[in-house]
Order: sequence, then structure tokens, then C-alpha cells
Amino acid sequence: MKMSRDFIEKVTASNASVFTGPGTNSYLIGRNDITLVDPGPKIDAHIENLVKLGKGKIKRILVTHTHRDHSPAAKVLGEMLEVPLMGRLLEIDDSLQDRSFKPDRVLEHGDLIKTEEYTIETVHTPGHASNHLCYFIQEQKVMLTGDHIMNGSTVVIAHPDGSMKDYLKSLELLRNYNFNKIGPGHGDFLEDPMAVVDWIIDHRLERERKVVSKLKTFSPVTSKDLVISVYDDVDSKLHPIAIWSLEAHLYKLLEDGIVTYDLTDKIWSFK
Ligand SMILES: [Zn+2]
Repeated sequence: MKMSRDFIEKVTASNASVFTGPGTNSYLIGRNDITLVDPGPKIDAHIENLVKLGKGKIKRILVTHTHRDHSPAAKVLGEMLEVPLMGRLLEIDDSLQDRSFKPDRVLEHGDLIKTEEYTIETVHTPGHASNHLCYFIQEQKVMLTGDHIMNGSTVVIAHPDGSMKDYLKSLELLRNYNFNKIGPGHGDFLEDPMAVVDWIIDHRLERERKVVSKLKTFSPVTSKDLVISVYDDVDSKLHPIAIWSLEAHLYKLLEDGIVTYDLTDKIWSFK
């Protein structure tokens, strides 16, 4: 057993699933002035574990975004520990959101949370969710990426709160920060962050090229039919999930003026 906690300690909740990988990661940062990032879902054992590890030293709770696997424990922990909640308000209330999260302080891009032990810089990264924030722990050069970058599972981009165009821009944005480790919302720490960022961007653009090429062949087409050929490399059981990503690509191509969409018949066409 470990004798002492890491300066940035990852604590994984027991909510493993196809969307959440091994479960949601909560992070405890610091020694005597602790920041808790993403308290996760309301699971009693996880909440008790965070309180125990925090040893009465948790001073604030930060949330990366308001999906139901990341923020629901914030309200109960905030009240229990009498500490402020920080993050951004819910913007588009789709079926994935936790409505209970009400930040005491709404964080803006570039906001700093300074303690004697470390500084956290807020990085607004819309894409997976419009209110998504990454947290850059400056002295340790660690970027906590929530669901902007995960390890081991693909980030879901679901229109309309999710946006592929924003997602790619927000990945590019990370290049401006000097970090050497990623603490993802799901899965283990990742080293060599810029290689990770490059890989995700390449992978998404490659998929976009496939969307365009299949659309050229099958247009006009519904997303339900198009997903079969665009995601022919993915288990068809996962196609209902892949449709979200497909549509996120299609909405980006719509914004880019490459495709048209017939809202009544739900049909996509190559322009
Ligand atoms: Zn999420």
C-alpha cells in the first residue's frame, strides 16, 4: 500500500461502462490546500473515499463539465464540506446533463485559481460539451482534460451541445500550453501529450474524409444508413453510438458548406 498520496491523486469511481471506460476519474490536487476536480457520479462509496483521502483539506470543487458521470457528487460534497463549487453553467440541456450543478463561481477561459502550493489555469475547451473546461496545473505541468481527451475510449461528440468544429479547435488550443502529462476523465495518465493531440486530430480528420467519400457515393442518405459504411471498421453493435459522431462530422461539414441537410426528411446530401 502507498504510504502517502500523490500530489495529483487520481481516484476512479465504480461506474465502469462502454461510455466511461474503467469509471470516472476524480482528482485531488495538493497537500494541505486541496482542490477536488470532477467529484463524479453520486456513488456513496466514492464520495466517502474522496472525503477520507481529502482529510478535511479539500477547499474547493472544480468540474470539467456537467455530464452525469462528472458533476452530480459536487452538490452533496459542496454542502457536506462547505466549500465552493466552480465550473460553467449548463448551456444546452440534452439528455446527458446533470441539472443539479450550480457553480458558486462561474469560471472563464484564463481564470487562475492560485494557492500557496500550485496554480490552476482554466482552459475553455468546447466540443465534447459546450461548457467543457480543462484544468492546467502549471507547476506540475499536468493538464486535467475531463472528457476532452480520454485514455482508452473514444470521446463522444453529440450534437447540439457537442460540436466537432469546436472540438478540433479546442484540441488545437491545447498546443499553447506547456504540459507533459494528461490526466484524463477516464483511463490512466497519458505521457507525450502533443503526440496524443496530433493522433486525435489526425484520426478525426481521417474519419471526416471517409464521411465525405461515402457521402459522395450514397448521397442523398440518412445518417442511419450512412453510419454502416462510414463505420464499417467498428462493431455494428456500436453503430447507435457512432451515429452521434457521424452526425457531429456532418454538422461540421454543413457549417463548412460541403453538405446540405433536409430537416424534414432527415436526409444528408453532398453539395
Ligand atoms: Zn462527458
